[in-house]
Amino acid sequence: MITPKEVLKNFYGYDNFRGQQEAIIQSILKKQDTIVLMPTGGGKSVCYQIPAMVNEGLTLVISPLIALMKDQVDALNGIGIAAAYLNSSQSASEQRFVSEEIKSGKLKLLYVAPERLFGGAFPLTETLKATPMSLVAIDEAHCVSQWGHDFRPDYLMIGRLRQELPAVPFIALTATADKQTRADIADKLGLKKPKWFISSFDRPNITYRIVPKRNSFDKLLEFLEYHQKNSGIIYCLSRKNVEDMADRLQAAGLSALPYHAGLDRQTRASHQEKFIKDEVKIMVATIAFGMGIDKSNVRFVVHMNMPQNVESYYQETGRAGRDGLPSDALLFYSYADVMTLQRMIDTPDNPEYSEVMLGKLDKMKNFCQSNTCRRKYLLGYFGEEEQKDCGNCDRCLSKGNKQDMTMPSQMLLSAIVRLKENYGLGYCVLVLRGSKSAKIQEEHKSLSVYGVGKDKTEDFWKKLGQHLQQEGYLAEAGTQFPTLKLTTTAWEKLKNREKFLLNMEEGALEHQKKSTPYEEELFEELKRIRFGLAQKENVPPYVIFSDNTLVEMATYLPQDHEAFLQMSGVGQLKAENYEGHFVPIINAYAEEHQLKSKKKLTVNKSPTSNRSGVSKTELVTLQHLRDGLDLFEIAKEREMSLTTIEGHIAKLVRLKKISAEAFVSKDDLLNIRLFYRRQEGRFLKPIKEHFGDRYSYFQIKVAIAEEQ
Ligand code: ADP
Ligand code: ZN
Repeated sequence: MITPKEVLKNFYGYDNFRGQQEAIIQSILKKQDTIVLMPTGGGKSVCYQIPAMVNEGLTLVISPLIALMKDQVDALNGIGIAAAYLNSSQSASEQRFVSEEIKSGKLKLLYVAPERLFGGAFPLTETLKATPMSLVAIDEAHCVSQWGHDFRPDYLMIGRLRQELPAVPFIALTATADKQTRADIADKLGLKKPKWFISSFDRPNITYRIVPKRNSFDKLLEFLEYHQKNSGIIYCLSRKNVEDMADRLQAAGLSALPYHAGLDRQTRASHQEKFIKDEVKIMVATIAFGMGIDKSNVRFVVHMNMPQNVESYYQETGRAGRDGLPSDALLFYSYADVMTLQRMIDTPDNPEYSEVMLGKLDKMKNFCQSNTCRRKYLLGYFGEEEQKDCGNCDRCLSKGNKQDMTMPSQMLLSAIVRLKENYGLGYCVLVLRGSKSAKIQEEHKSLSVYGVGKDKTEDFWKKLGQHLQQEGYLAEAGTQFPTLKLTTTAWEKLKNREKFLLNMEEGALEHQKKSTPYEEELFEELKRIRFGLAQKENVPPYVIFSDNTLVEMATYLPQDHEAFLQMSGVGQLKAENYEGHFVPIINAYAEEHQLKSKKKLTVNKSPTSNRSGVSKTELVTLQHLRDGLDLFEIAKEREMSLTTIEGHIAKLVRLKKISAEAFVSKDDLLNIRLFYRRQEGRFLKPIKEHFGDRYSYFQIKVAIAEEQ
């Protein structure tokens, strides 16, 4: 039997399990119902895909995200795991083909939408009862909760499936952190004494920043300049804001497109696809965008407006950095937005709901205004006690850059107090600077603070006000227009005659000192290669290799097969398919820049190849073939998946150890090869699409193996 670790290495190309992955897999292998709470990017998929490979039988994956299924299945097929999906986007004949595959026992994983289980023309449950099943995985399990915004009534039917498949273990997975939803998952899915695995919800690779919304467009451009080569999402409040922002960014020469519910379906789908495929860098969107996307190399998420609550903020910013590389979350904060949201939420028809939501809004506001480490606040909100400051948020990064601003701070604060905390920043500054404006009330002209701040510009005072606010000395209040009040922290500081040390830089865009230990130029080149391959295979680039894997290549400069296989994210099949595209580029780059490859100190993934290029395990398969066993018998004998054996055979054909005609008839070989030669790429997918159900992937692979 193949072990979980072997699957991880040979198929995914990873050396070690992360966090609780291994324990979760063991729990499933013991046939224990299991619930997994893990943040986005934590590596949930592996938790059910590996048991699917280790066990006999089919793993059913229930997911509401139909649009994602094709990419998920492509990614699995791309690493040599037999997977398929069934959903309403397919033709009847495609669905029939998949049903045949299920019956033949070839599939390891089947993705379906929940409505297919009991409803529709061919409810799946009957087929499933007749199929050997190893596992049912419920992805996005929070959809069972009526409390959340992703509620899917069909998820409530899963309890029935649990009863109809009493001997099969179930695993439920979600990245939703809030408590009510957790309780609902356990309750509504009807799982049997589930074992819980709760990971920390920290996303250490995301740098959180919140800056005052002043000159926000300039700040945004500066931020985007830093992220020039990267993909990201910019969230705006309304459709109109989205359109305006996309126009302005395009006018500034940036690669950006809008996305909101007011666009017709086709436009929306095309914009989304362009973004996923890296054809456009920036998606400007309302929060409707993002739920159904799985793009792992989103490098930044910007909020032009404050989200309604911390849960939404966490979820939306969480779309950045699924691949684990450093990513940015930037929010532009203004009190005016708080007031707008207050008005939106405060509806008389459902006072109870309004009250809860207003409470959440208040927490979100506090999060923006507080001067503690952002990560500490976030994790604390979700009930995790984080002891130390994170060192990777704007609060932490700006420490050490502080100036003594005691005098002017005292002046501004006392002006606010003299004005009875009844005015906004603009008015206080006019008074401080002794303005002759008609706006100034007569009585205020006789205050001691009137005109004491003449020697400094209006801009200076406003900036100071913002910083005092950011650091938690001033808070905005009011319902009609914002007025400024001193916080208790400010009063205490004044009372104790402490200094006001402020960081007067616009902390937002300070970046950690960038050290890139990898070859950036090569990385960009590898991205271009990947982009070309992705276009030809009609998959998103991250399905070929994640950014992380390309970074590894640009770090270690692997120049031969063995070294290439050691890159994290390069499994056996990917090495075989893509080595020829990447290694020559790396070689050329290394030569041009006179660089040597660096040794990566890991265990060897490949079960020892010998000079002829045939690995030991492939030789065993070859021996069995010579002994007259067929594919299925070999798979069974060796306790390996059929896909693995098929992979061996394609390789053996390629190395001319056996003839393709043993598996595909002469005519068929000719047919496939002719079509293959006519197209410019060297890819399976278009061939498969061309012939439809006529040939299996295996037949195609074998047919073209000698041509490669
Ligand atoms: P989630 O579904 O929890 O958001 P994914 O399953 O998509 O996360 O995994 C996120 C990324 O991490 C993927 O690129 C995945 O291949 C990678 N990954 C998962 N497990 C490991 C591991 N053990 N080592 C390295 N990378 C991993
Ligand atoms: Zn921090």
